[in-house]
Amino acid sequence: LVRFDKVVKRYGDHVVLDELDFTVKRGEHVTLIGPSGSGKTTILRLLMTLEKVSGGVIWVDGSPLSHTRKPDGSLKPAGEKQLRESRKKIGMVFQQFNLFPNMKVLQNITEAPVNVLGMEREEAETRARELLDMVGLAGKVDAHPSQLSGGQQQRVAIARALAMRPEILLLDEVTSALDPELVAGVLELLCDIARNTDITMLCVTHEMNFARDVSEKVLMFDAGRVVESGTPEKIFTDPEHARTREFLNAVL
Ligand code: ATP
Repeated sequence: LVRFDKVVKRYGDHVVLDELDFTVKRGEHVTLIGPSGSGKTTILRLLMTLEKVSGGVIWVDGSPLSHTRKPDGSLKPAGEKQLRESRKKIGMVFQQFNLFPNMKVLQNITEAPVNVLGMEREEAETRARELLDMVGLAGKVDAHPSQLSGGQQQRVAIARALAMRPEILLLDEVTSALDPELVAGVLELLCDIARNTDITMLCVTHEMNFARDVSEKVLMFDAGRVVESGTPEKIFTDPEHARTREFLNAVL
């Protein structure tokens, strides 16, 4: 479903992603691990089209996400309009929730389906209520984000991402801003979503237990490249690369 093809991302002279290649199959749940600064968040931001590639091509579902195909078959960097279209396929949940503070919970969830997808408000509200029920917040429809705990805000953010019916859900360290006692509940919810839907997930996490529970595949990054990839069991119990062993020794 997703293919990074020699993707380069530079900020000035600083090369963050260095001809990065990897693929994610439809329905797969993949976690990205690696030291701070290795480029994990950048990968999600490129997929969410919040950043543009400096080189290479990102493919989603056989079409170039980062590029437009010219009539002669060659590719040119995508314009804003195409990037907005591409963004519809992909949902993202951020470390800091990023809810709209001036909107009630229900409107936080209906805003994008109504304004971006053109869904009828009534339909969007019905769907939002179903999603709030699923994330355990049926009673909070009329609350404002500031009246919710961090864990509850993150559940709303998850419901908001799912309201767009994305093919791919990107999760960027979604529990790192939460109080420790709220982490397990949010991780459990995400594991349920992984088990009970066919959504493709890409997660950046420092929670190795979550990586083990939610994903079938772990990609270990260092310096903008994949050092190794494998099942969580293989990576966590029998890593091949010294760099992976070093990283896991530091975090486990
Ligand atoms: P962490 O685990 O700490 O979040 P990460 O692996 O997600 O790290 P990124 O956030 O992708 O790493 O950042 C990779 C590198 O890119 C870092 O060195 C960072 O300083 C740099 N970087 C990220 N965004 C920008 C930006 N907008 N301008 C300049 N440099 C940036």
